[in-house]
Amino acid sequence: MKANFHIHTSFSTLDGEQSPTKTFETMAEHGITVAAITDHDNVNGCAEAREACARLGIEYYDGIELTVQPEGSPLPDFDSIFYIHVLGLGVNPAKIGKLNIFPPFLTFKQGIDLIHNAGGLAVWAHPLWGPSGQFHNAETEILAGILKDLGIDGMEVYYAHFSDENLAFVEKIADRLKLLKSTGTDYHGAYGAKYLKNSARLEEFAEKALPLIERLRKRK
Ligand SMILES: [Zn+2]
Ligand SMILES: [Zn+2]
Repeated sequence: MKANFHIHTSFSTLDGEQSPTKTFETMAEHGITVAAITDHDNVNGCAEAREACARLGIEYYDGIELTVQPEGSPLPDFDSIFYIHVLGLGVNPAKIGKLNIFPPFLTFKQGIDLIHNAGGLAVWAHPLWGPSGQFHNAETEILAGILKDLGIDGMEVYYAHFSDENLAFVEKIADRLKLLKSTGTDYHGAYGAKYLKNSARLEEFAEKALPLIERLRKRK
């Protein structure tokens, strides 16, 4: 089994490259069997992606990648405004609705609540990496604790772009906080494509993400 719960299409208007159909055809070509669409701050590609996956035989979940910001400044040495990305996996697109994708973004809590109200699992995407900069290890731990208190379900531990060292660090945090561990390539077209070629790693990641996959299946 190969899973990919971090996939962008041309509905990610700033950085996605391929239509949902083309995107999931590419997933099928690389043997991905379980997948979610996760465009930035919108669910407009879900219907097309669902149809393509039904045709291609991919077990499919609607999803989104939300940009969210903290309330106040929880990181002592981070004086500028910062954001993080939270994936909503297995959401009902109709319940996500249409979002205002420009700042001010939803708060951490609003984002997590939106995903939960839409029936999905909320997963901190690429922990350690904010969309505009990297967090130190200590900052990552603080943020993980805050998100856990706000009800986050998981962390994207098996993120294809992580070094072994990054991965081991975030895996330890997720285990300590008893969070689900997700996997994804953050595919955008060219960006993230090379990770689809590493079959052994994708299979290993899918196996490790099995508890999350089982939770998604229960929600279907
Ligand atoms: Zn992201
Ligand atoms: Zn992404």
